[in-house]
Formats: sequence, C-alpha cells, structure tokens
Amino acid sequence: MSNEVKGLNASIIEEFATQIRGELIFPDNPMYHETRKVYNGMINKHPGLIVKCVDVADVINSVNFGRENNLLVAVRGGGHNGGGLGICDNGLVIDLSGLKFVRVDTATSTVRVGGGNIWGEVDHATHPFGLAVPAGIISTTGVGGLTLGGGVGHLSRKYGLTIDNLLEADMVLADGSFVTVNKNNNSDLFWAIRGGGGNFGIVTSFKFQAHPVKNVIGGPTLWPIEKTEEIMEWYHKFLNNAPDDLNGFITTMIIPGPPFPDHLHLKKFCGIVWCYTGDPAKFKELFKPVMDKNPLFEHVGEMPYPSVQTLFDGLMPSGLQWYWRADFFKELGPEVRAQHLKFGSAIPTPLSQMHLYPISGAASRVGKEDTPWAYRDAKYAGVIVGVDPDPNNAEIITNWCKEYWEALHEYSSGGAYSNFMMDEGQDRVKASYRHNYDRLVTIKNKYDPSNFFRVNQNIKPN
Ligand SMILES: Cc1cc2nc3c(=O)[nH]c(=O)nc-3n(C[C@H](O)[C@H](O)[C@H](O)COP(=O)(O)OP(=O)(O)OC[C@H]3O[C@@H](n4cnc5c(N)ncnc54)[C@H](O)[C@@H]3O)c2cc1C
Repeated sequence: MSNEVKGLNASIIEEFATQIRGELIFPDNPMYHETRKVYNGMINKHPGLIVKCVDVADVINSVNFGRENNLLVAVRGGGHNGGGLGICDNGLVIDLSGLKFVRVDTATSTVRVGGGNIWGEVDHATHPFGLAVPAGIISTTGVGGLTLGGGVGHLSRKYGLTIDNLLEADMVLADGSFVTVNKNNNSDLFWAIRGGGGNFGIVTSFKFQAHPVKNVIGGPTLWPIEKTEEIMEWYHKFLNNAPDDLNGFITTMIIPGPPFPDHLHLKKFCGIVWCYTGDPAKFKELFKPVMDKNPLFEHVGEMPYPSVQTLFDGLMPSGLQWYWRADFFKELGPEVRAQHLKFGSAIPTPLSQMHLYPISGAASRVGKEDTPWAYRDAKYAGVIVGVDPDPNNAEIITNWCKEYWEALHEYSSGGAYSNFMMDEGQDRVKASYRHNYDRLVTIKNKYDPSNFFRVNQNIKPN
C-alpha cells in the first residue's frame, strides 16, 4: 500500500477527473500552496492531490478513488483543527469547502447545513428568523469538525452541545455508499457521529434543531491577573448556581490591543466572557454579583447573537501558530487555582490564553452514554492555547502550553474534549471517550474496518 497519489497511473487520474465537477488541485497548480493551508500556521503538509468537491457525487467518487488506490485520505471541513486533521502529506484531501448551503425551515425551527459550511454562515442565515444553533465561539470554525467532535459554546448551558441538537446527517461511508442517519435509521451510526469525529464517514449535510435566540446580552469582564484565585473560586460557585440562561467561560489572557482601550493593552487578566439568553428585564439583578466583584473592565451589553459569535474573530485570523492542550475538570480547587495564577502570570505572547468552558446546565443533563461525549459530569472543558504570528515563537508557546497542562493534569478528570487535542496518541483518544470507546470501536469495525477514515482522533478498528 503506497498511500501516495504520486506515481498513480496517468489514465487513472484522467478517468477520475471526468467524475468530478469540482476542481482537482495537484502540487503544480498555482493555487496548490494557498489551498493546502489550514488555520493553524504550525501545520505544513503537502498532499498529493486536493479535490475541491462541489456536490455529494464528488464526495462519493473521491472516496471510491481513494479506496481503490489505497490512498491516505484526509477530509477537510473548515480546516480549523488544531492538530491539522483536515490535511495530510502525500495522500488525497477531500475538501468540502464547496459543499455549502443553509436552509432554514421556520415551520419546525430546523436548519439543513452543508458538510463544508462554517458557523458564521449558519448564524447569518438563521438570525433573521430569530433562531440559532448552539456552536463554538469563533465564526470561522467549520460546522463539520466542530459538530462531529461535540460543539461547546455560548449556548451550551441553555441548549446543550451542538451534537445535542443534531437531528440527522447525510453521510458517504468508506465503501462509497450514501446513507441518512437519525434516531430511527442507522441509529448506531447516528450515535457514533455525535462526538466520535470523522471516523465513520463524510457528512455531506447536517440537520439541526435551532432555538429562539435573537439578541443576547454578552461581552467580557476583566480582573487583574493577581485576582485569578479569588475570581475563579467565586465564579465556580456563582455560575453553577445560576440559571441556564447565563453562560460564561473563564480565561487567563493578555489583552493584545484594539478594540480594547489603550490602558489595558498587553496587561494580563483573569476574564469571563458572558452570554445571557434570558429575559433582558431580569439581567441586571442576575448580574449584580458579577458587578459586585468590581471588574477592572466591563463591556457587557445587548447585541445580536452573530455579534457575540464574532467578538474574537478579528483577534484570531487564519495562519497564526497554535499549540493546544486540553482536559476536563470537575472542580477548581485551591491547587488548580494556584496553577492558573502561576501560568496565567507567565503567558508568553499576547494571543496565548487558557479557557474553561462550562459543561453544565443543559449540556450536563444528557446521559453519559447517550452520545460518545463521555464527560457530561465534568463542569468544564479546559483548553490552553499557545498562539503567536511568529514561527520563531513556536517553541516558547508550545513549552508554556505543555508545562501549564502538566501542572494541571493530575487535577483533571483524565481525558480531554477531542476537538481541543493535538496528535497526542491512542491513550489520550481512549481517555477522551472513556466508557464509550469500546462501543465506538464496534461501530468502526462495522462501517470502516480498514480504517479508511484515519486522519482524525482515531478510533482504531480491531
Ligand atoms: C480559533 C478556534 C476556536 C475554536 N472554538 C471552539 C469552540 O468554541 N467550541 C468548540 O467546540 N470547538 C472549538 N474549536 C475547535 C474546533 O471544534 C475543532 O478545531 C474542529 O475540528 C474544527 O472543525 P473544522 O471542520 O473547521 O476542521 P477540519 O480541520 O476541517 O476538520 C477537523 C476534523 O473533522 C473532520 N471533518 C470535518 N468536516 C467533516 C465532515 N463534514 N464529515 C466528516 N468529517 C469531517 C476532518 O476529517 C478532521 O478529522 C475552535 C478551533 C479554533 C481554531
């Protein structure tokens, strides 16, 4: 098995080209280097061929071509994955970025979304109808990868994870067959894709339940980094007793520059980014304990939901260096808080930061075996990201991230949210799925016994 496109017979490639309505991009194409870039500038892979699919037939034909020629195959949705799982060296990339459409059904408040859409496109389409689908916090993230891994964001406490709102998916499987999966059809596959990543096939369209969300009250509150321990202790009690309407993720970070006021620039903070979806008339009273903690800076106000979803887009353009480390946490005990203060005070570059996303409210009320997403009992999905535009700082941000993670890992629940992981080995994948791993392997054995879909947080068949 060569796994490489290079060396394939010219007639095989020519025949494949006749089956594709999208574009075939080989290394000699002037667009090749632009097309092979992913969001994380630390990833620099050189595929043998990128197929820019425009329809389901392109996806089926690409899967068959990859399988029949024993190629290593990567599937690219939004290209955001930290570990660069949307791309590979030498093999075939099935690029879904041309597979875009969003159709809102107002009668059922459901939304059909293409396998290659990004979340900003979904928010844009649903907002005029006063609807939203729970997703992540940056609008350029792909619907495909984020959904298949779980989907944590501003609406998690109110409406659950993205997978908790997935009703159906159309998929191309490893043998080239096309199936629709939902709670009645192929229910084993439907279970597996709600957290099990791209291991089971290529999703060409998703159907989501949307919810009535128009304007929200959101934005950040900041305290000097020296107050990290105090704010974290208070935050844990406050948020876990607050109504589901209020979400807030806590962070250690540097204010990198505009749009924040000059006097905050390049200073370190413990911050909370809020999003409230309840009755505006009740917000002031609910938020009073936050204001009583005297934040040094507060910019919380009413805004359209797509605005809270794009608050950080400008700070995080594509192409920066990113190194990720993650774990779930149940508690923010004194030792944990002390480490956050220590490493938060040593953030090495302006864009590097730590986030703890709440897994409480609606997200915690789904059973631990109802989806592969095994840590419903964790209170937080934690992630540490070392970020910087300069490749010369790659080592500094990586080391800070690893050391921060190592200091905290013993206090964690043991595994991490798969979408926040780099390539960290099989034990970490198993820890991520916990008691659900064996069931995922059984489903992988059934639908992809040759591990055709393996450029992912891989569930290895046995
Ligand atoms: C700046 C930034 C912010 C983020 N914020 C959040 C957040 O708030 N909440 C959160 O939950 N996550 C967040 N993430 C993590 C994100 O969920 C993952 O990086 C996810 O993998 C991105 O999906 P993608 O489609 O863009 O990535 P890609 O790199 O294209 O793909 C990632 C994986 O998913 C597979 N895949 C993608 N689309 C499909 C498809 N249609 N069918 C089958 N397999 C597919 C790929 O094969 C690959 O294995 C963030 C990431 C970044 C970089």
